[in-house]
Amino acid sequence: MQITEEQIKKVNQQIHALVEAGSFYGRKLEEAGITSISSQEDFQQLPFSEKNDLREAYPLGLMTAPEKDIVRIHSSSGTTGLPVIIPYTAKDVDDWAIMFRRCYEMAGITNLDRIQVTPGYGLWTAGIGFQNGAEKLGAMVIPMGPGNTEKQLQMMMDMESTVLCSTSSYALLLAEEIEKRGIKDKIHLKKGVIGSERWGEKMRQRISGELGIELYDIYGLTEIYGPGIGISCKEDNGMHYWDDYIYIEIIDPVTLQPVADGEMGEIVITTLVKEGAPLIRYRTHDLSRILPGNCPCGSPYPRLDIIQGRTDDMMKIKGVNVFPSQIETVLREFTELSSEYQIRISHLEGKDTMRLYVETNGTVDFTELAERISEKVKSRIGFTPLVKVVEIGVLPRSEKKTRRVIDERYN
Ligand code: ZN
Repeated sequence: MQITEEQIKKVNQQIHALVEAGSFYGRKLEEAGITSISSQEDFQQLPFSEKNDLREAYPLGLMTAPEKDIVRIHSSSGTTGLPVIIPYTAKDVDDWAIMFRRCYEMAGITNLDRIQVTPGYGLWTAGIGFQNGAEKLGAMVIPMGPGNTEKQLQMMMDMESTVLCSTSSYALLLAEEIEKRGIKDKIHLKKGVIGSERWGEKMRQRISGELGIELYDIYGLTEIYGPGIGISCKEDNGMHYWDDYIYIEIIDPVTLQPVADGEMGEIVITTLVKEGAPLIRYRTHDLSRILPGNCPCGSPYPRLDIIQGRTDDMMKIKGVNVFPSQIETVLREFTELSSEYQIRISHLEGKDTMRLYVETNGTVDFTELAERISEKVKSRIGFTPLVKVVEIGVLPRSEKKTRRVIDERYN
């Protein structure tokens, strides 16, 4: 997505603040001799920032505004080592709530809705983000936080909650409990705002079917305000994001070069008006793509596809970048197959080979099916896998898609 004049102006203000504060990124810019940018090409010369840089700034090295202006911190829970601390000014907190209000509005939620917030409250940005946005909208918040399903359902019935904010797994759990207890007629939910993670179409249908609600995917990460920087609309075709607050580019995670709109790659985000901790070209490691063209809903805000996974899941085969979700999409078109599959990559006689194991029942011709799958992968993704069709029940069952990919090249 081409950067606009207005966005360039804002990036320059962020650069100025970062250099002035002598933050880690300000020093990076000084070392690179960059004081301002005036074009897309200039912008693409700016160094990336990474989660590791942010960790090294622990505890308050990211603080870019004067301390008197900082009103709050949030922290992202790192799986390894030090957490990342993000300081917020009052304006940052307010901007975040404005973005979140837009998300609710995009989902058709109004100040007459009653919003039950089940994500956690605390150092991380989840619960409080949902709450501030809802208050900005003027809706009634029921600030439950996670867990205590008994109380959760009681309040949902008594308060007649109309909107559920939740992770997909917790929404599914609640849907199943409601079904089990036979209390569906006492539930008034109309909409679900679900934290964007990669969740399957089957799970989505179960939640939306059992609760009888419309679902909206919300996107965000603690380093960039938190959830609320983008949300899907009623067309359910990608997520609109707020390009007056953030600039998004998609890069090839290997070459680090920007890819064309419509092509899959890593989401890189630049904040445009952040004060407490501005970030320039922050690598999220989330995979998606910019959806070109206008959305039928009429919103002028650009769209990101829903998150397709993490760059860590990416495989490089015969020079082609492949994501498990792409394989999964192809496999879903074959109704003869079960939902289980396994990908094994090996390096044989100087060549990368992908073996793709899929399951079906005994009523189809295994060889013919394997050929059709292999051809479809070739035409869609650009290389020919070795497809092995096996009987249903042969492949190991696991919840995590990551275990479905076994790379034998580096063993
Ligand atoms: Zn739309």
